[in-house]
Amino acid sequence: YKMTDKKDLKIALVGNPNTGKTSLFNQLTGLNQHVGNYPGVTVDKKQGACKLSNNRNATIIDLPGTYSINPNTIDESIVLTTLIDKDKPDYPDVVVVVAEVDNLKRNLFLFSQIRDLEIPTILAINMSDQMKRKGITIDIDLLAKELDTDVVLISARKNIGVDKLKQVLAEKKNTTTKNSFEKRMDFGFFKRIAQELPHIPLYKAWLLITQCNDLSAYTKKEQETIELFREDEDKLAKFQHKETVLRYVEINDILKKTYNVNLKNATTLRANLDKIFTHKIFGYVIFALILMLIFQGIFNFASVPMDYIDTAFADLSNWTKAQLPAGMFTSLLTEGIIPGIGGILIFVPQIIILFLFVAILEETGYMSRVVFLMDKIMRNFGMSGKSVVPLISGTACAIPAIMASRNISGFKERLITILVTPFITCSARIPVYAIIISLVIPEKTYYGFNLQGLVLMLLYLIGFGAAITSAYLLNKILKVKGKSYFVIEMPNYKLPSLKNLGITIFEKTKAFVFGAGKIILAISIVLWFLASNGPSNSFGNAEEIVLKEVKLDHRKTSPKQIQNNIASYKLEHSYIGILGKTIEPAIKPLGYDWKIGVALISSFAAREVFVGTLATIYSVENNDDTTGIKKRMQAEINPETKKPRFDLPTGLSLLVFYVFAMQCMGTLAIVKRETKTWKWPLYQLFGMTSLAYLLAWITFKMLS
Ligand code: GDP
Ligand code: MG
Repeated sequence: YKMTDKKDLKIALVGNPNTGKTSLFNQLTGLNQHVGNYPGVTVDKKQGACKLSNNRNATIIDLPGTYSINPNTIDESIVLTTLIDKDKPDYPDVVVVVAEVDNLKRNLFLFSQIRDLEIPTILAINMSDQMKRKGITIDIDLLAKELDTDVVLISARKNIGVDKLKQVLAEKKNTTTKNSFEKRMDFGFFKRIAQELPHIPLYKAWLLITQCNDLSAYTKKEQETIELFREDEDKLAKFQHKETVLRYVEINDILKKTYNVNLKNATTLRANLDKIFTHKIFGYVIFALILMLIFQGIFNFASVPMDYIDTAFADLSNWTKAQLPAGMFTSLLTEGIIPGIGGILIFVPQIIILFLFVAILEETGYMSRVVFLMDKIMRNFGMSGKSVVPLISGTACAIPAIMASRNISGFKERLITILVTPFITCSARIPVYAIIISLVIPEKTYYGFNLQGLVLMLLYLIGFGAAITSAYLLNKILKVKGKSYFVIEMPNYKLPSLKNLGITIFEKTKAFVFGAGKIILAISIVLWFLASNGPSNSFGNAEEIVLKEVKLDHRKTSPKQIQNNIASYKLEHSYIGILGKTIEPAIKPLGYDWKIGVALISSFAAREVFVGTLATIYSVENNDDTTGIKKRMQAEINPETKKPRFDLPTGLSLLVFYVFAMQCMGTLAIVKRETKTWKWPLYQLFGMTSLAYLLAWITFKMLS
């Protein structure tokens, strides 16, 4: 076998998790990369371009981390499906196995499997910068000879050896593809496989028998033969075990000659840190402290840029309104599109800060300790230790949180995590909670605790409780396959690399802005349309009708008030007003009127729109002035009872509704993207919203 002479090589990076594949990928491709999806599964597929030499380019694929090509998770099965079939479009010309100096043995196991697939395979040993400190020496030349391929020592973090690797990839044309499987498994059972499946290389045939479900690329006869071999399960298990053992025997031999560790000063720091971070008490204390830091970060540091974005877009909208002639287009631009884009970008600071923290925790290796610590607890609720990240992230916004559920390996655990995350109180609920609490909960202090603050905390706790409880129930109910076993890799502690942090944050933010953003923008435009249009006989003649009323009413009315009256008349008779009135009978049992109904509907674009919508409806002069809106809400009278509209029963009913309801288009969109079907977001929409309805109704009934 020869490596092809093609000008453009397709190169796949394969290796154990955390060996630095992505770091190497980033070094090779810089920002020339894009993230796609593997067909049918929700694993990111990262691809990028790289110039190897003056006359050779390459496409690099960053495959998911895996310990062997026998798949346990979706991620790992990607590696097998990519490498087993020469006709697949992603089939590489060369594989670079990225190993790390520490765990060479386990990485060579993967190397030897890939080599047996008869793909040209090069070994890159990463993290060479740590060799000295760890007392490791490797005889690279001898290792290359033993493995019969090129071995390059690199440090992806420090960009050492990467050019050498490029050069090797560009120049080397005769990397052999030694297949040692036949020699290794030279006995009866395998001889029979070779005989009966003569057109399939032996190792591939073995993988087809033991691993692959999709045999559609093979002839009927071959498929039948494969099925026959599959029947003898005991034998298969026995030989799989034997294969593993024999591989390790060979690898141990090679490493004995080439690899040397001077243990004296190695591993003590790591062991000590592990002891603290996974300690039965301190482990949790430290984690709680870090969580607090993250919360503070998200809420404190983000508020300044968020305010900036808020005012910047309000200013832009006003400025545009002043520049352009009044009309449909201007109105669409200034009341639909610009606020819509603002409504997407306002989340960006929180997303950046959140992912910055998460990426730092992951890069340093601390997150693996948290996952280890939390796994036992989370498993009671059908989730995995890795669900901790999405659940924490959910306090900022469910959208990035659900995106962060990707590295949960079991499908069921991942699905449950995605389904319950929207119960976690996100920051968009805060303005709603804040204004309603201030309206209906008295400002009292009990034993030094502020009552309003306690209620706010209670709402957070209820949300968290709802997430945990529903996870527990879903775990019992859902008949989904795909539980994972607990295999957690404890990587070494490291300082995070700025380049990796930067690229991760950039990618996540981009995914949010272009993924969920599109939908938020679309909904904002629809809402704008519904709010600024209506049937012509009422909506169209709003001014005349209101002016006539004003004339009949002999009290003095200021021009400003007249304007406000016109605006609120228009809203009442716009399509969205009509919609609100239509749903009024349904929400009346919860204590709401059509105006609150409109606010509920528009909350679907984003919950915090609630306050702004009520503000528009109650025609307050300044939309964002919450004291203004609060006074108006206080003054709003329920015509039936002649009492304030926002009394205790209605207020609490609304709070309960907002705790439980699935009211966020962005979240639904991202759940669709992550689960690849509308089924789960629709379950969330109806399940959560019915629950919210029921509980809000009970609350209202009990209090009134
Ligand atoms: P992947 O899981 O294989 O994609 O690995 P990543 O590229 O995400 O890297 C895992 C961790 O190893 C990160 O914390 C990197 O910063 C770190 N890392 C990557 N390359 C090197 C290196 O050459 N030296 C050191 N010290 N750390 C590295
Ligand atoms: Mg990676």
